[in-house]
Amino acid sequence: MHAPASRRILLADADAFYVAVARLVDPEGAGKARLLIVGGSAERRGVVTSASYEARAYGVHSAMPTGRAQRLCPGATVVPVPWEACTAKSREIGAVLRRFTPVVEQASSDEFYLDLTGTEQLYEGAPLETTARRMRDAVLAETSLALSIGGGSSKLVAKLAASLAKPRPGGATAGVLIVAPGGEADFMGQFALADIPLVGPRFQERLARFGLRTVPDVVRHERATLIGWFGEREGAWLYDRVRGIDGAAVEADREIKSLSRDETFATDLDDDDSLAAKLLALADRASADVRQAGLVARTVTVKVRDADFITRQASRTLPEAVQSDHAVYAVARALLTRLRAARRVPARLLGVALSQLGPAGGSGQLSLLEPAAGAVETERDRTISRVIDEVREKFGRDALSRGGADPR
Ligand SMILES: [Mg+2]
Repeated sequence: MHAPASRRILLADADAFYVAVARLVDPEGAGKARLLIVGGSAERRGVVTSASYEARAYGVHSAMPTGRAQRLCPGATVVPVPWEACTAKSREIGAVLRRFTPVVEQASSDEFYLDLTGTEQLYEGAPLETTARRMRDAVLAETSLALSIGGGSSKLVAKLAASLAKPRPGGATAGVLIVAPGGEADFMGQFALADIPLVGPRFQERLARFGLRTVPDVVRHERATLIGWFGEREGAWLYDRVRGIDGAAVEADREIKSLSRDETFATDLDDDDSLAAKLLALADRASADVRQAGLVARTVTVKVRDADFITRQASRTLPEAVQSDHAVYAVARALLTRLRAARRVPARLLGVALSQLGPAGGSGQLSLLEPAAGAVETERDRTISRVIDEVREKFGRDALSRGGADPR
């Protein structure tokens, strides 16, 4: 096994991805707005998906309610997320990056980990920085999107380096930042613990109780001390992370295996109508996730956790892949009926999962022109679902709900 320090890992992350794509698809509108917010509208209590760097200077950030963002940044133009164009651009970026190494892991729609370990010969010993810059130039030339690229001996270091390579208001855009092998510990010294992925608000609170806010605060302590404070798993994890040590591999072509939505109820539910209403909402959300990812699903699973914590599930694999609310709900409803018939006690949690995912439009998907006899999903269902997505995109989640029983 090679030492972790010998790995050559990059994280390529598109700059203000949703904003950049919105500008490309609408050069006259969004393209001309310096102060641009991409997300749901304030009238429908939508949230910001992304904002231009100019708008961020006013304190606007993603996941903030759009109404609040507009008060912070009056005069900003608000446009919906162009989901289809984003999916297409995301694929284009991935395709360019895969020319440099086959070991590419897509971490989100605009973030890609690459492992270039062992490619030194292929690139004739060129420094990782040179390869990263060529990659960045190729993606810019072919997709019109700018990337920031961070690099180092682990995914953790690459990710943090990419965050420093990002454009800064008023500052020059570095674009690429590579941490040399052996420089990990020094590099880590500038970060707050909150900057480390997976150190969430709750863990930060626990850390703060021991006076730990920054990486140097932790580095001062022995491994055993950290384990004493935070337990074997988290203590050891933290000890490694603050030194830039992260053994996680770049998993090539990692695919989303399933998409699921579940809800734990405030009070256990026992009547069939209430459960059906919850199921409809969950099926709608899970199928919208599948459509947004540009996928179709063949297997539908319904999970119920009974009041006594016994968890049961039922699945059905369909002859044809589906993605519409209608088809997913129809299958899920039958599965729930079966689960309830087997054991009728109050439920504390209900979930819908979609798996056996494939690309929309790929083989195995229902023909668009000739619906198979007895098909569970027609092209009409699909069109209706996409229209619902668009309306929700424009007017928010609550704009449309099917059936009278949907409680959202
Ligand atoms: Mg990004």
